[in-house]
Amino acid sequence: MAIATREQAVVDSVPKGLFIGGEWREASGAKTLAVEDPATGETLCEVADATPEDAKAALDAACAAQADWAAHPPRERGEILRRAFEEMTERADELALLMTLEMGKSVKESKAEISYAAEFLRWNAEQAVRIDGRYSTAPNGAGRLLTMKQPVGPCLLITPWNFPAAMGTRKIGPAVAAGCTMVVKPAKLTPLSMLALAQILERAGLPAGVLNVVTAASASAVTGPVIEDPRLRKLSFTGSTEVGRKLIEQSAPNVLKLSMELGGNAPFIVFEDADLDAAVEGAVIAKLRNIGEACTAANRFHVAAPIAGEFAERLAEKMRGLKVGRGTEADTDIGPLVDEDTREKVADLVADATGKGARALVGGAPVDGPGYFYEPTVLGGVTPDARVLEEEIFGPVAPVIAFDSEDDAIAAANDTEFGLVAYLYTRDFKRAMRVCEALETGMVGLNQGIVSNPAAPFGGVKQSGFGREGGYEGIEEYLETKYVAINMD
Ligand code: NAP
Repeated sequence: MAIATREQAVVDSVPKGLFIGGEWREASGAKTLAVEDPATGETLCEVADATPEDAKAALDAACAAQADWAAHPPRERGEILRRAFEEMTERADELALLMTLEMGKSVKESKAEISYAAEFLRWNAEQAVRIDGRYSTAPNGAGRLLTMKQPVGPCLLITPWNFPAAMGTRKIGPAVAAGCTMVVKPAKLTPLSMLALAQILERAGLPAGVLNVVTAASASAVTGPVIEDPRLRKLSFTGSTEVGRKLIEQSAPNVLKLSMELGGNAPFIVFEDADLDAAVEGAVIAKLRNIGEACTAANRFHVAAPIAGEFAERLAEKMRGLKVGRGTEADTDIGPLVDEDTREKVADLVADATGKGARALVGGAPVDGPGYFYEPTVLGGVTPDARVLEEEIFGPVAPVIAFDSEDDAIAAANDTEFGLVAYLYTRDFKRAMRVCEALETGMVGLNQGIVSNPAAPFGGVKQSGFGREGGYEGIEEYLETKYVAINMD
């Protein structure tokens, strides 16, 4: 099935090469990799498949640009980001369509991501001029203490396919604002959004070499030599915990500064005193945003026993009303999963849960036909040994399980190696505060099903990683503190 003319024009508008030292170029091995539309399984286009030498060239360009970029006036760094924010915002429809074509989610959701992604550019445009230090008198009165913030230096930024624009701007925004140069390696499934972003930043006036983008079929082949190079100073990674662990290990010899935004297994807790309508609304958002392919997706619903049945039925009712379809169609709510592996994993987890006694109240199966669609699903009567409670689902499946007491709910919520986010619905203020404090996560959605906000520190604890993106904290990941001891004798 050929894609529509407008869709083709959007794909054609994106450069397909590597962006190195301010130039778009072919991969040195002259190889390309195919980008697929997950709604049809068909190839949209080919992009450059970088070699390890290309990745080294990208790092060379970043290193060559570092000193000048660090000395660039903060206001100008901020204004480049601001101009990029303006262009992203103006071209939101087109960029959303591009994202939907390569990633699958509905254009409504892609548009929301473009806006979220652009906000990291605006926020960091504002932060660029707020990098400061301290001056104080030493406690014994003898000397003075001065601290200054300086850019970390050349960074490697590795991003996942699920939020192909926002996971990029969440790193590029603060790195640019702080005065760091960078090599970006987007996921091979969704390189187009990052290439479009690089083009926007180029047009916004980002000097050559500050941002370099390498697309590649083999991630480790291009990131390995960059990580081993002693000139690299920082690695910021968003992706699975499994790959994160490997990268932490690889980063040890050069003692790289690290930010790790890893996997999640978010509990969604509903107490008996909750506003049930709001909880069901929030559950739909927390579960189905990005087709469930989000690190912040509610992975398991722990509901007070007296209302668990009603909650599950009402959630199932909402899910039944959603339209599954190609993301490019305006009335689509739920697009396809990103690839067949992702869909198979979802199907396996559902089969495991139903095999152990759970029952699908709605959905429960892949959708026949082309593309990697899976029905929005609610599972009732899930047993505690079901894998769906333990593993990241990354699909539109909501397992509901009952709890008896506040302590049981907290214990169940924390019974995971992950600690990214939890959602909590209650109208009891003291209980809300008690539970927020007891949850072992980096973020909590209190009576709301979404936490992402460029002005807030996003990140996890436990095996969901370390470091924060967004808020005042985000830029700190790209800055070092230097202290000067001043002799006043
Ligand atoms: P992934 O397989 O870990 O890949 C993430 C990125 O790492 C991609 O660019 C990937 O490249 C690259 N990569 C894979 N193996 C690598 C290796 N050995 N060395 C260097 N780079 C490597 O994760 P994903 O499937 O793309 O994304 C989903 C995961 O990301 C989920 O676990 C989700 O929870 C997590 N996530 C976390 C956050 C957060 O903020 N905490 C946000 C979004 C997503 P290729 O894809 O080209 O192989």
